[in-house]
Amino acid sequence: MKSGVYRKVSATYLPTPIEPLDRLSDYLGGPRIWVKRDDCTGLSTGGNKARKLDFLIGDALDKGADCVVTIGSLQSNHARQTAAAAAKYGLSCYLLLQDNPKVSNEPRFIDNGNIFLDKLHGAKISIHSDGECLHSAMLRLVDTLRSEQRNPYVIPLGGSNFIGSLGYVQAANEILTQADSLDVEFDTLIHATGSGGTQAGLIVGLLTHQSPIKVVGVSVDTDATTKKERVNQLAREISQHLSLNLNQTRLENSIHVTDDYIGVAYGVPSTGSVHAVKLLAEREGLLLDPIYSGKAMAALIDQIKTRKFEKQANLLFLHTGGVASLFAYANSF
Ligand SMILES: *Cc1c(COP(=O)(O)O)cnc(C)c1O
Repeated sequence: MKSGVYRKVSATYLPTPIEPLDRLSDYLGGPRIWVKRDDCTGLSTGGNKARKLDFLIGDALDKGADCVVTIGSLQSNHARQTAAAAAKYGLSCYLLLQDNPKVSNEPRFIDNGNIFLDKLHGAKISIHSDGECLHSAMLRLVDTLRSEQRNPYVIPLGGSNFIGSLGYVQAANEILTQADSLDVEFDTLIHATGSGGTQAGLIVGLLTHQSPIKVVGVSVDTDATTKKERVNQLAREISQHLSLNLNQTRLENSIHVTDDYIGVAYGVPSTGSVHAVKLLAEREGLLLDPIYSGKAMAALIDQIKTRKFEKQANLLFLHTGGVASLFAYANSF
């Protein structure tokens, strides 16, 4: 892969393990379920933003940045891992976080979980109301920093531009190598999808290897059509920058998204996600979170129960992290 031309730091523990979840498979009486442990990437407890930040922080250092600026929700895992990566590489970090009135009235929400860790990493946080445009607020902050002779590096929502997504092009390689040595053929890879970089990177990476693994993104926010367009656009940007000649029709046909498991809204635990978090904690000793990985697991459980997969199939659940937010959502349990 040509991603070698992009400077990269190595804040991430790689490869992350792939393990069977046999007690879960037995319980559901369905196909064999495996988990790819991207919750174990390191960088302030781990999660999928670490792989992206290896490339983004590399680029920031390349460009001589002295600080990074990014946006997210109040309990953004991306914000927490960005704050940790910035600390590790000696950059200051500015986080613009959006209030979510649907949940922020819970007693532990505002000073626990990810926000608590953001502050511990020394990030400068500003909280913006629900209706405010975070992106414009970020552009204003960048202007101010430049007028103070600072050199800010802007990281988009979720770290999802083509540079960050290179982390998941590489993850696809990693998964194929591990599948080989485990001697397993994964049929479906299922994961939570938000800003789209994880899914776009995985799809591009798998397509370049002609892999038949079907990637299913479980949307945690927008409808499936919007999400597919976003993933498609990002995948095309990645393949342009890597000078891959991906067939457009094949690319489009490789993008699968379900929006059936969002629940009430983004950032609000659903009945299914709370159940999934409890089930995995009790049966596998594995922690998920109620906003991303729990909703993706709720989708997997439901699709096994409704017999969407062959009994002989091997399913790979990509654990994208999020566990730090559990402490902010303790009331939901
Ligand atoms: C950000 C995030 C996702 C979604 O990844 P995207 O690349 O933004 O689509 C999934 N799970 C967790 C825990 C996350 O923090």
